[in-house]
Amino acid sequence: METFDYTKAIERIKAPFPSGTVQKRGDNGRAYIPNQVYTDRVEAATGSRWSREIRDVDINIPHGYVKVVVRITIGEHFRDGIGFAEIDTDGSGRGKTVSNKIDQAVAEAVREALDTWQIGWKDLAPYYQDQKDWGKNPALRHLLLSGAPEEQHAVQSRATVEHRCIFLNCGKQLTADEWAFLGEIPSLNKNKMKYCFEHVPQHLKKRASNEVLQRYEQIFQSK
Ligand SMILES: [Zn+2]
Repeated sequence: METFDYTKAIERIKAPFPSGTVQKRGDNGRAYIPNQVYTDRVEAATGSRWSREIRDVDINIPHGYVKVVVRITIGEHFRDGIGFAEIDTDGSGRGKTVSNKIDQAVAEAVREALDTWQIGWKDLAPYYQDQKDWGKNPALRHLLLSGAPEEQHAVQSRATVEHRCIFLNCGKQLTADEWAFLGEIPSLNKNKMKYCFEHVPQHLKKRASNEVLQRYEQIFQSK
């Protein structure tokens, strides 16, 4: 068996996709790349030397969500992704809904894990440069210039210092205020439960004191 070249595999993973790959969501118009495309890319780029492992499934009926942790391993390196899906608690067809929601959360977790290897970034960046989002960040400008030399280091540090909302399909980069608010919620692991203010689940928001909640609601309303 030929030796596995991790660096080469990751280069192939990060390479731009053919035009037409990026899709727009029907509900909110956000650009995305279908999961099947990602899976196919990883499969081809690594010569099948990758694995996907579901590490944790948390089905929380009372609070109406499913949380899944998925680990993707490529060569000797692994990355974890967390996916969430909200469960409708109206009663009818709940079992079916839950299994669908697990699939949905797994898909999101896989996407999040693969995202740390910058899959699809070159393709998605042009769609996000006009928004208060990551695409216009000067540190990532190289993504918009095909063939430009990549500043590996700057890009890698981004993945560790930025916090993005884990709510399904949101992915918004948290502002300093949003990040600070998460710190005000008692016994919340904010490194895992990252939400923009809009998407912090009600049951978590309620844990913060009224005083804190009012203060932050004012901050976010004034924007
Ligand atoms: Zn959000």
